[in-house]
Amino acid sequence: APIAPLAAVAGSDARVACASGRVRYANLDYAASAPALQTVVDEITAALPRYASVHRGAGQLSQETTAAYEDARRSVARFVGARDDDTVVFTRNTTDSINLLATCVPGDTVVLDVEHHANLLPWKRTGARIVECAQTVAATLTALDRELAARPAALLAITGASNVTGEVLPLPTLATIAHRHGARLFVDAAQLAPHRAVTIADHGIDYLAFSGHKLYAPFGAGVLVGRTDWLDGAEPYLAGGGASADVPREIADDDVDTRWHHGPARHEAGSPNVLGALAVAAACDALIEWGPERIRRHEQSLLARLDAGLGRLPGVRPLRIWSDSHDHVGIAAFTVDGWTPRAVAEHLSDGHGIGVRDGRFCAHPLLSRLGHPDGAVRVSLGLGSRSEDIDRLLTALAEL
Ligand code: PMP
Repeated sequence: APIAPLAAVAGSDARVACASGRVRYANLDYAASAPALQTVVDEITAALPRYASVHRGAGQLSQETTAAYEDARRSVARFVGARDDDTVVFTRNTTDSINLLATCVPGDTVVLDVEHHANLLPWKRTGARIVECAQTVAATLTALDRELAARPAALLAITGASNVTGEVLPLPTLATIAHRHGARLFVDAAQLAPHRAVTIADHGIDYLAFSGHKLYAPFGAGVLVGRTDWLDGAEPYLAGGGASADVPREIADDDVDTRWHHGPARHEAGSPNVLGALAVAAACDALIEWGPERIRRHEQSLLARLDAGLGRLPGVRPLRIWSDSHDHVGIAAFTVDGWTPRAVAEHLSDGHGIGVRDGRFCAHPLLSRLGHPDGAVRVSLGLGSRSEDIDRLLTALAEL
């Protein structure tokens, strides 16, 4: 029996037209954006007719909405196993969270060259030191250790799971390496949070970000969670209402007289995406309730079927960053001999109603390093995935 209730994912019976007729859409693109959970849909449907302004409204619905918004922070904190004094900031998405954090880091940042652009370009702007990853995880950890030993840095910013290969890095070891050299650890959990328990206090993670739309909630809301001191010590990410505690009548050119809030409000100027935050919280609550172990087992059994099937197809070449990595979340990228990634993706979609992603996955340096500057095909799984989706994919690939 499926471990995750399939009905839990909204729209998992959607049908599309393709060369084989009208078929159930086989969504194998969860890593780009996951469909909403039914409980998220229910939560938002209930909230829509009952919301009002947050924080400054005196009316009853404003108070209820404010309480729900602040409760949503607590759900996120629980989901990531935050420390009691961590701050949870609601953002637009992971990209927004990382750009925010980049304005708060009091020193150099070190990043690996395998990152999604969201965890590369904001740091490049701040003059980050980029470490070339090695052939093995072990040698990559040594390279990071050496870089941090050679010159002090404030932050090590690393992806929790690669958005291209799904490979997972040992987070507690990364935390030990960062802390040994007086740096903090930021984890881009955009691809990790939907699949695994990431308990930041237990793993020694200082900051973590993820996007609602990859965690079974709709677009437009993400989170940054972590140590309060850097967040409170930085200028507000956006200037405006909500972030400001007191603004004098005469505004000086350098704005030194404005007093800013501390806590999450400092970086949430403007009216927040309350429904987005409630959706993220509903998804977090549901994933906690099902339990990360059940989710992991469900996905790993599908992933084993996928990996074995791809391995049996001649001319299908899976991408791997590290030769010694034994763990990956439900993501697999590959090329097919004699076919461009786009042609493969079109064959799957137009011919079979299967949705995958092709291209360079916003990780151009990584694709070049792996020898695929023209891109690859990526298949990714989630809670609504079925073994039948994988079998359809393998049959369609065999035609090539
Ligand atoms: N980091 C990783 C590892 C990702 O996979 C993605 C999305 N593909 C992002 C960051 C950026 O997420 P978003 O587009 O939601 O900001």
